[in-house]
Amino acid sequence: MDIHKIVLIYPERDGRIWGRAQGSPYTLMRLASLVPDNLPVEIWDEDLGPIPLHQLGPHDLVGITSKTLSIERAKEIATAAQARGSTVVVGGTHATLIPEEVQAWADITVVGEAYHTWPQIIRDVAQGTAQKLYVDEQWASLDGVARLTDRVIEMVGEHRNYWTPYMEITRGCPRDCTFCTAIRVSGRVMRHRPVEEVVEEIERRRIKRFFLTDDNFGLNFRTNPDYIVQVFEALAKLNLSGWTAQAEMMVGNFPELLGLARRAHLEKFFIGFESINSSNRRDLGGKSKGGVEEYKRIIDTIHQHGIGVVGLFVLGLDGDTTDVFEATWNFVRESGLDSVSFTIMTPYPGTELRREYEAQGRLLPNAAWSLYDTAHVVFQPAQMTVEQLRRGYDWICHKAYDPAAIAARGLRTLQRHPVAQYQRRMFSSFSTDLGYRKTVSYRDRERDFRWRTPARFDGTALGAE
Ligand code: SF4
Repeated sequence: MDIHKIVLIYPERDGRIWGRAQGSPYTLMRLASLVPDNLPVEIWDEDLGPIPLHQLGPHDLVGITSKTLSIERAKEIATAAQARGSTVVVGGTHATLIPEEVQAWADITVVGEAYHTWPQIIRDVAQGTAQKLYVDEQWASLDGVARLTDRVIEMVGEHRNYWTPYMEITRGCPRDCTFCTAIRVSGRVMRHRPVEEVVEEIERRRIKRFFLTDDNFGLNFRTNPDYIVQVFEALAKLNLSGWTAQAEMMVGNFPELLGLARRAHLEKFFIGFESINSSNRRDLGGKSKGGVEEYKRIIDTIHQHGIGVVGLFVLGLDGDTTDVFEATWNFVRESGLDSVSFTIMTPYPGTELRREYEAQGRLLPNAAWSLYDTAHVVFQPAQMTVEQLRRGYDWICHKAYDPAAIAARGLRTLQRHPVAQYQRRMFSSFSTDLGYRKTVSYRDRERDFRWRTPARFDGTALGAE
């Protein structure tokens, strides 16, 4: 086929929030950078608005990346593109976790990272020799792989279209949390980008803030401290306003590295404490043990180094009863956390957790993939009803994202900085919680409850007012 243009599509997730989409389409930016210069390439992010499917034609190659929760929308887009004669390639998390399902409707399905297979697919489609399935699980070295091109940086307009540029320094995680999809998609070997490449990319994108997509950046404090020191020393020289990384709580045991991290403009860690219930530790792959005193000590240590902590918690693990909601909320209030996120345990395809639930007959029948957004219950919890878990999640979200609660956490965060920095720190002190509140408000439209929240959770709170 004589390819006229390549269009890479991100199906809608959250839409625009206060005029911009949340995070830049980083995966597609890197795949678009692998397209040869002589071929026109475009990125269509549906979070920015309706995508012009009518512009597609029979000589266009369409690539769609999708997580599980947007795979139904990905299928609609694929069908529309195919109706116009385009060839459709589908990759991303869901295609990697459950390729047989995607193969039923995509022209070409990609399993894995696609850094090696995507250029091959373009060549094969052009020569009329494309296969139905391409598998790329070599866990490619990140050295020089898919470097962003200037035409892609220009095209995406990160500064005007997105709140948070995404960035990658490492990839993979050797842990084995039973619910994790990241290790199925990124592999269990931690890989590292050359430090000079990271610096070069930040400078060329002219970004001052970024969110690291790294699965478990913080684990490198223990496993690759020399590399981490190099990263911090290099970033310290850049004119950054602040960046954010995902980590596990053990980063709090490395005070010297925390000091270097702060000098490197690291602003916040997103830490997966996951549960305040120690009977859940088997599911947490060794990174968290449900010990709240230890959690508080770690949060205090990180704060002492001028770095904020966003606490991530999963609700509905098998050890959880209806007491978990109030206990988790009490911990959040006392902990000094800067921001907080709650998710409902979700058995994604390809995980050990899903296999267990399937064997035990605990997956709810006919739950659409769009409900796999960690805000809906799609399985039978072990020690409560589906409705209790749903109401408990709603209750704690309303507690946490009540304007007074957000203001209290944001002001506390602000006060940890010198007064002279208040203006500069204002946005980041409130933005994470406000973003979460916006997401919860959006989901509320499909549920019938108000922001007025009972003080105690009794299993019937919310929706019954
Ligand atoms: S620590 Fe995080 S990235 Fe690693 S396996 Fe657990 S959930 Fe996945």
